[in-house]
Amino acid sequence: MTNETPKAPPLYPKSHLLAASGIAALLSLALLVFPSSEVEAKKTTLSLELESPAEQLKDESRGAPLVQAEQNSDSPFAQIEGAEPETAKAEPAPAPAAKPEDKAPGHREVVVSRGDTLSTLFNKVGLPANVVHDVLASNKQAKQFSQLKHGQVLQFELDKDGQLASLHSKVSNLETIRLNRTDKGFAFEREVSKPVVRTAYAHGVIKSSLSASAQRAGLSHSMTMDMARILGYDIDFAQDIRPGDEFDVVYEQKMMDGKVVGTGNILSARFTNRGKTYTAVRYTNKQGNTNYYTADGNSLRKAFIRTPVDFARISSRFSAGRKHPILNKIRAHKGVDYAAPRGTPIKAAGDGRIELAGRRGGYGNTVIIAHGNSYKTLYGHMQGFAKGIKTGSSVKQGQIIGYIGTTGLSTGPHLHYEFQVNGVHVDPLSQKVPMADPIAKAERQRFNQQSQPLIARMDQEKATLLAANKR
Ligand SMILES: [Zn+2]
Repeated sequence: MTNETPKAPPLYPKSHLLAASGIAALLSLALLVFPSSEVEAKKTTLSLELESPAEQLKDESRGAPLVQAEQNSDSPFAQIEGAEPETAKAEPAPAPAAKPEDKAPGHREVVVSRGDTLSTLFNKVGLPANVVHDVLASNKQAKQFSQLKHGQVLQFELDKDGQLASLHSKVSNLETIRLNRTDKGFAFEREVSKPVVRTAYAHGVIKSSLSASAQRAGLSHSMTMDMARILGYDIDFAQDIRPGDEFDVVYEQKMMDGKVVGTGNILSARFTNRGKTYTAVRYTNKQGNTNYYTADGNSLRKAFIRTPVDFARISSRFSAGRKHPILNKIRAHKGVDYAAPRGTPIKAAGDGRIELAGRRGGYGNTVIIAHGNSYKTLYGHMQGFAKGIKTGSSVKQGQIIGYIGTTGLSTGPHLHYEFQVNGVHVDPLSQKVPMADPIAKAERQRFNQQSQPLIARMDQEKATLLAANKR
């Protein structure tokens, strides 16, 4: 006997607060260089320039070494008086380079503006259209020069006869493309610079919204999203944020030529939400797995209960396509069915907020629980709901939410259980579902060595900042 739901309507679409954030996106963001406190309007900014080479964290050394570099927690954090946070804010991405070579007599540069093409730009420096053709035809990769961005600067070097000798352009803060004339045409070259990674600190107090105060504190949008994702199991960033909540973050900042060109990982974060403080510390274990933990080494991700019904038998597993017992058609089964006697209690798989407790088409009596921002669970075909279970209320992990039934399109008493991660159905029985383990005993000392300096850094920086603002 199989039991089924008729169709698999997705849990309702929810615009995710937490979009995946790629490094590329991070790099394109203009960042505040120096975080400033929004507590007071005083123009005091805190520079986190760390002079010692030990503090200059290499990009590839993610994880352990990053944190070890922070052990020098009494390093001086220089105070820059009267620096305007705004001045540091929006750094136009490709700043024209002013290297000595650029000042050669044959040097020309043009800035791409709306409507420009390679032809119009070449024309501006006195190069005829056929040169554009020659350049593009000379090398496959040369086409990358035709992907022009508003504000991009093209730098031309012309020889004494006015012929194109080389062309180069910064396509991002870290990348320059170049064409040099050779005997056979043009040779393409790409220069990718490696930023130096250092750590920075930001502190903010919420006045109106998290994003506004994060921005004032110097956190990029993606950093803010990261923070929300890291702490999202404990704090509902969509609904629970209140004025007066505050946060501290220590994060990686990518530097090129003394300028911030991007951000990396959040190394530690602390958020006080309605008087309750949550701390997160990033840790990469000896196997190379990275997670965020509380200060005392518990995983921030709460383990979900694997099976929301005790003593049940799995009657149908998660599958991409199978024959539907009622509709007699092949369709995906986006959950797991647990057969159990009518009236068997069903438990919430984790803490969360009830998004729906009511009828939902073929699912019959259904409960949908949102667990933080990333996870949702759905329970279908229930006979009825437990006391106090209604849309909008909160539940604790293991709390009874209802009872096994066969409401909706179902052939017998069972629970249809779905699990979603960021809007995507996953097999609740797979290892993709987060099962959070605390720091292993064998790693405890290493964890403490790395986490304590980060927490001390947040304490110290915050104290310094608040003291500065009182002056
Ligand atoms: Zn099912």
